[in-house]
Amino acid sequence: MKIETKCLHSGYMPKDGEPCTIPIIQSTTYRYHSCNAVADIFDDPTLGAIYSRFFNPTCDAVEKKIADMEGGVGCMLTSSGQAASLLAVLNLCSAGDSFIASTNIYGGTINLFGFTLKKLGIECIWVDSEASYEEILSKFKPNTKCMFGETISNPSLTVLDFEKWAKIAHEKKVPFIVDNTFATPVLCRPFEWGADIVVHSTSKYMEGHAVQIGGAIIDSGNFDWAEAYKATGNFADFIEPDESYHGLKYVEKYGKMAYIIKTRCQLMRDFGCFPSAQSAFYLNLGLETLPLRMEKVCKTGLIVAEHFAKSKKITSVNYPAMKGDKFYERAQKYLPKGSCGVISISVKGGKEAAIRFMDALKLSSVEVHVADIRTCVLHPASATHRQLSDEQLKSAGIDGGMIRFSCGLENVEDILKDIDCGLAAI
Ligand SMILES: *Cc1c(COP(=O)(O)O)cnc(C)c1O
Repeated sequence: MKIETKCLHSGYMPKDGEPCTIPIIQSTTYRYHSCNAVADIFDDPTLGAIYSRFFNPTCDAVEKKIADMEGGVGCMLTSSGQAASLLAVLNLCSAGDSFIASTNIYGGTINLFGFTLKKLGIECIWVDSEASYEEILSKFKPNTKCMFGETISNPSLTVLDFEKWAKIAHEKKVPFIVDNTFATPVLCRPFEWGADIVVHSTSKYMEGHAVQIGGAIIDSGNFDWAEAYKATGNFADFIEPDESYHGLKYVEKYGKMAYIIKTRCQLMRDFGCFPSAQSAFYLNLGLETLPLRMEKVCKTGLIVAEHFAKSKKITSVNYPAMKGDKFYERAQKYLPKGSCGVISISVKGGKEAAIRFMDALKLSSVEVHVADIRTCVLHPASATHRQLSDEQLKSAGIDGGMIRFSCGLENVEDILKDIDCGLAAI
């Protein structure tokens, strides 16, 4: 099936007389009629539901849909995108390990990796995603367990060189994790370009209506844990018995699904950052119309980016699908259907001019969100990076005049009119 069809039909097939939409199974627990039946599920957690801290039938249907959309063997939903990135890395790294991450990633992930994981004894080795093959390779240590990058980075809008990153990861026999939030599986499926694990903040386009925070981890099933273990001794906990799960051996028992089942059995069981059935239901409503919405925001995004590029009051426009963008060629290869609806611009006159532009907008909402159904704007220098001086902003790669503009589903003429109001105020 093609992606539009999967978005509607994958994961749930009602039998005669059953509801057409995925039912909300709002229950913490599941009844059995014998001790043995429960014991069997404790031996093999894939046999049935026991407790909604880590599994729920509504979530399960949505997980199967997302796995199918990305082309993976399994998916686990999480209560937020942050939880997805956290568990995706913790499933591979323990205290004393390190991993490599691109500096061009979401600010929240930078905090998580650079500060909170550090407190847990896990070192994040930062690399410029555009650094050469040799330079990135040289950053590896014997304890480096994975690589992490973003398809389209938030907010700098760089496009990841998938093939370079996958080649490095696989040469070093570690999995390559990609945050595919901005692209969604409609615009890009990282597994087709060598990624092993995909994470999402479903709070953005996938849910799409700004009603539900959520995340997802998807396993391609392609990484050969047994081979990597034999070559490097890494990933022993995929091969050897799990003490916390009465000796379960993930690769031996689950083969290609070892990673995603281990994440659920160990990490979700212990951390419990699992969404409710209601949350998964909202996410599914978004997924049903995702291809239509992505097509529309890509179309609008290009018109809006070209409009900004024509203005003398704008000094730079980042939009990978626009001719002349630094990442245009790469976007044509990895994102042929478009590069989503998010644009970053720099306003002539710095912070003051950017604030004047923002304050003059009537339609676009000023909010800390992005990739939404409604057009929204954020000024990093006066919001998320407010405490920094002009000098500090510069070294953080954010100039005072930078604005992140996220196109919604409004009529593009209304969006352009609103932008002109903003530009006139500068
Ligand atoms: C928002 C975002 C996240 C974090 O997701 P939450 O659902 O807000 O926790 C992670 N990655 C990217 C690219 C994001 O835009």
